[in-house]
Amino acid sequence: MERSPGPQGFLVIISGPSGVGKSTITNVVRERLDAALSVSMTTRPKAADDVEGEHYFFVDRGRFESAIAHRELLEHAEVYGNYYGTPRGPVLDKLAAGRIVILEIDMEGAAQVKSNLAGCFAIFIKPPSYDALLQRLRDRKREDEATIQKRFAQAKNEIEAAEAGSVYDVFIVNDDLNRAVDEAIRRIGAEVERRRAGAHS
Ligand code: 5GP
Repeated sequence: MERSPGPQGFLVIISGPSGVGKSTITNVVRERLDAALSVSMTTRPKAADDVEGEHYFFVDRGRFESAIAHRELLEHAEVYGNYYGTPRGPVLDKLAAGRIVILEIDMEGAAQVKSNLAGCFAIFIKPPSYDALLQRLRDRKREDEATIQKRFAQAKNEIEAAEAGSVYDVFIVNDDLNRAVDEAIRRIGAEVERRRAGAHS
């Protein structure tokens, strides 16, 4: 078991399929809670609107494998053929300093964090329907139709696996951004309160 978060620190995992709007939700939740967002390391190619050190640390496979070997990552997974992982040090430091820390990671990573770190809270963002998700993937105009279909098939598998498993504490439907953000903040706040009350009883 890893070092547990300090009495104030709180680790929140946010997952959900591509195109569900989880980055937007995560960013608004982060701002409203003054939380810290973990910056992942990845081997995926940098896209035009990606900012190094802000969205990801972009590295080659050699560097990523060395990070795994040296236990620099809290979790890692291979998603769509690329490695993604959470640098351990910054997350543990911020938790020890009492911050709320948000990890925007996939289910495989979420399962690893949940089994390694006590007391984290995992949220899964769902689309209102599969049709709505397919439409959103198309509206992003980021990928060609074949890639969109691959991501869509993967998304359906992810949602089914998340619902069948026991990794997630809460499922939130992103039918409306403001409503989904409010629900996430309310659920996180309730959990922080519940733990605080537990710690004092
Ligand atoms: P994208 O390439 O679209 O930014 O992210 C693809 C997927 O990788 C998303 O589902 C995202 O949640 C996941 N992901 C991003 N960073 C990490 C990470 O550090 N660890 C894990 N396990 N998944 C990640």
